[in-house]
Amino acid sequence: MSIPAAVMNLSKVHKNSSASHKRMRGVTLLGLWACCLICLLFLSGQPVIAQSAPTYTVQTGDTLGQIATRFGISVEALAAANAIDDINRISVGQVLLIPGADQTLPTIISRPGETLFDLADRTGITTDQLAVLNGLDTSTRLFPGQPIAVPANRPNPAFRFGALTGMGYPAQIVQGKTGRLQITSSRPVSLNVTWNGLPLALSVAPTNDESSRYTAHIPVPALLGPGPFPLDVAYTARNGVTVRRMFPINVVNGGYLSQEINLPPDRGALLAPEITSVELITVTQAWSATDTPAQWFAPFLRPVSAEYPTTSPYGIRRSYNGGPYDNYHAGQDFGAPVGVTVTVPADGIVSWAGPLVVRGNAVIIDHGKGTFTGYWHLSDMFVEEGQRVAAGDLLGLVGNTGLSTGAHLHWELRIYGIAVDPMQFLEEPLFQPDETLSDG
Ligand SMILES: [Zn+2]
Repeated sequence: MSIPAAVMNLSKVHKNSSASHKRMRGVTLLGLWACCLICLLFLSGQPVIAQSAPTYTVQTGDTLGQIATRFGISVEALAAANAIDDINRISVGQVLLIPGADQTLPTIISRPGETLFDLADRTGITTDQLAVLNGLDTSTRLFPGQPIAVPANRPNPAFRFGALTGMGYPAQIVQGKTGRLQITSSRPVSLNVTWNGLPLALSVAPTNDESSRYTAHIPVPALLGPGPFPLDVAYTARNGVTVRRMFPINVVNGGYLSQEINLPPDRGALLAPEITSVELITVTQAWSATDTPAQWFAPFLRPVSAEYPTTSPYGIRRSYNGGPYDNYHAGQDFGAPVGVTVTVPADGIVSWAGPLVVRGNAVIIDHGKGTFTGYWHLSDMFVEEGQRVAAGDLLGLVGNTGLSTGAHLHWELRIYGIAVDPMQFLEEPLFQPDETLSDG
């Protein structure tokens, strides 16, 4: 895929080199800095187009063949990269990894004397899939230490873990994206699930027998990884003993653009921690609850009309005044004039509506299970705290309030306080109460 060159007035943009980025620390604080600074600095200038991660979310009516054609790859390569056995069976919302020149698939290292047949044995992937994926013939001799790409989403082997009878989770999640976890159990259990130490808010779906089904979101911070991070699943067995197992989920590079920003001294002063810390407490309180039941079961609607383009995408990395690339844009900016209507993207309950110093007139909506959306710099707000809102309701008007010098909507989505890519929610119904679980 070609990457359109991004041009900016304030900064230069270059491709992100993940190796130079440190692991995430202090996500919430970084998120605050990211959003404040970006709203100040990214104005309604030329649109910036992010290099999107090499994934594609299956849409209604898609076939694997069409998707392969769109990306200029063979349907076999696409199927192999995603461990799809039946090319006629893909489902809407399924995230496919697009194999290409950009080597994004996990690799395993061949041992002395091993053939593709041995690797197929070792990985549970068919020899044909491995051959297609690596551009090899099944009879090709491998050299010891040769890296061999394997599918991103390998099929789960037969699963049985005490009372837990099925688990569906992504083998990998792109930085800044949200994965979905599904667990079934043969009887109701009190599950405790964390990912990378973060407790997940589980929804329990009713079933028509003794079994139970649990779902949760796994938000990946934009600056986390790459690398494997543990999903820790535990419950208390009938004899009182805690049963626990770890499952690694690999975080892969999101390919976000980077930019250098030189802050004028007066602007930098406005963003001093003593000015922003009070506001941080306010918004953190507004987006911290996890006990509201899930309020939405369909893809989100765009909060402003599609005629208003993205002026700054989620996730773009930034360095200030030559410092390290340890900040990122916590939301998606849409350039739109003052007065353009902003609508509610999904059902929820307003958890904050009021003026803030940095974010201007701000609205935060609780969509349940620790999932919140925020709308900054509004010129007017038509909702109030505690109000129930439905998808499509009028929420406010685009403005230029707070630390912003150009009209735009900054839209952000937080799960457990972690800012993730809100655009993913326009495509994927991340909560589906009646979806069928693959017990794989
Ligand atoms: Zn922004």
